[in-house]
Amino acid sequence: MKEIILIKNGELVLKGLNRSTFESMLMKTIRRRLHDLGKVSIRSAQSTIYIEPVDEEFDFEEACERVRKIFGIAAFSRCAALNKDMKEILSVTPSYVSSALSNAKTFKVIAKRSDKAFPFTSPEIAREVGGAILSKMPHLKVDVNSPDITVLVEIRDYAAYVHAGQIQGAGGLPVGTGGKATILISGGIDSPVAAYRMAKRGLILNAVHFASPPYTGPLAEKKVKTLLSKVAVYSGDIRLGIVPFTQIQEAIAENCKEEYFTLIMRRMMMRIAERIAMDTGSKALITGESLGQVASQTLPALAVTDVVTKEIPVLRPLIGMDKEEIITISRKIDAFETSILPYEDCCTVFTPKHPRTRPTLEECAKAEEVFDFEPLIEKAINETVYSRITKDGEA
Ligand code: ATP
Ligand code: MG
Repeated sequence: MKEIILIKNGELVLKGLNRSTFESMLMKTIRRRLHDLGKVSIRSAQSTIYIEPVDEEFDFEEACERVRKIFGIAAFSRCAALNKDMKEILSVTPSYVSSALSNAKTFKVIAKRSDKAFPFTSPEIAREVGGAILSKMPHLKVDVNSPDITVLVEIRDYAAYVHAGQIQGAGGLPVGTGGKATILISGGIDSPVAAYRMAKRGLILNAVHFASPPYTGPLAEKKVKTLLSKVAVYSGDIRLGIVPFTQIQEAIAENCKEEYFTLIMRRMMMRIAERIAMDTGSKALITGESLGQVASQTLPALAVTDVVTKEIPVLRPLIGMDKEEIITISRKIDAFETSILPYEDCCTVFTPKHPRTRPTLEECAKAEEVFDFEPLIEKAINETVYSRITKDGEA
C-alpha cells in the first residue's frame, strides 16, 4: 500500500497573502526539504498539494516529520492512496486506520466523491466503509455528531485517499514570503528563539555574530553555529557572518566611561549589523531582547541603542515574553541544551560593575564621542567571515 501526504488549501495559512506567491514559496520549500529523502512527486491540483513517493526507498516517516516543521502549513493528512475500487477500499481501510482508532470509542466515516463516475454515492461509500471498520473493531460505535475519530474517504481524479484525521503543522507563513532579515545571534537562550519566531512569520534569515577572540573562544563560535543549525530545521539555510569585535571592545574599554560600556558596545553592534544587513539585502534586524530582562533592556536603554539604526526596523519578537515562555520554545526547537553550555559571550567580557539603567541619549553619545570608532567599524565589517549554516551544521 502506498502512502502520501495531502495538504489542502484550507490547511494553509493564506490570510492576507497573494495565493500564487504563497503556494510557489511553499512548494519550493517542500521540494528543498524533502529532496534528499528519495524520489518524490510534489504537485498541486484541486486546491491540494500532493506529496507522493515515487520509489520504494523514499523515507516517508522522515518526510512527515519534516513537513511538520514547514511554516505555512497549519495541518496535513497522511493518507493511504488506493485504487478507485470499492473492494480494495473496503479491505485496506480497516487495517490502515486501526492504530488511529485503537484508543477511540466512537468514529464516523465521511466520504467525498469528486469523481462522479465512481459507481457509489458518498453516503453509500461511508456506510460500507463504516460497516467494514465495525466488523474488524466491534468495540467501536458510530457517532455522527461528535466522534472521537473521523475517517475520511476521498474519491479523486487518480486515486482514492483514506485517512483518519489531520496532523497539526507548524503554522506561520512560508519562509520567503516576508523577505529577508538579519538576526543578531549570541550564544544565549533568547536570540535563537527570536530567529525561529521571525522565520515563522515568513522571513528568510541571515545572521551576524560578534566574536571577541581571545576573550571568546572557538567553542563559543561553534555553539552559535549549532544553535543556528537548530533554527535552520525550520527556517532553511542561514548565512552567518562572524564579525571580529575585539578591537572595538578594547577601544570602548580604554576610552569610554565604564558605566556606558555595555550600551556603547550594543550601539556598535547595531550599527555594524545594520550595515551588513543592508549590504546583504535584509530588510530588518532581529534581536532577542525582552523588556526588563537585564540592565541593557530597560526602555531608556533600548532608546539609546534603537536610535543608531537609521534605515531598517529592529524586530524584537520576545520583547513582551517572560523567560519561562522563551525557554519553552527554546526546548521545543531543541536549542536549550546548547544555549546553556557555559562559553563566554562577548557581552560578558568588559561588563561594567554598575551599568546605567536610566541612561540618557546625550550622556551616552558624549561617552562615545571621545573616540573615533568609524575606522574600526569599517575594518570589522571588511573582515567579517561568512559561512552557510544548514540543519546539519556548517555547509
Ligand atoms: P541572548 O539569550 O540572546 O544572548 P540575552 O538575554 O543574553 O540574550 P543580551 O546579551 O543583552 O541579552 O543580548 C541582547 C541581544 O543582543 C541578543 O538577544 C542578541 O540578539 C544580541 N546579541 C548579544 N550578544 C551578541 C553577540 N555576541 N553577537 C550577536 N548578537 C548579540
Ligand atoms: Mg546574551
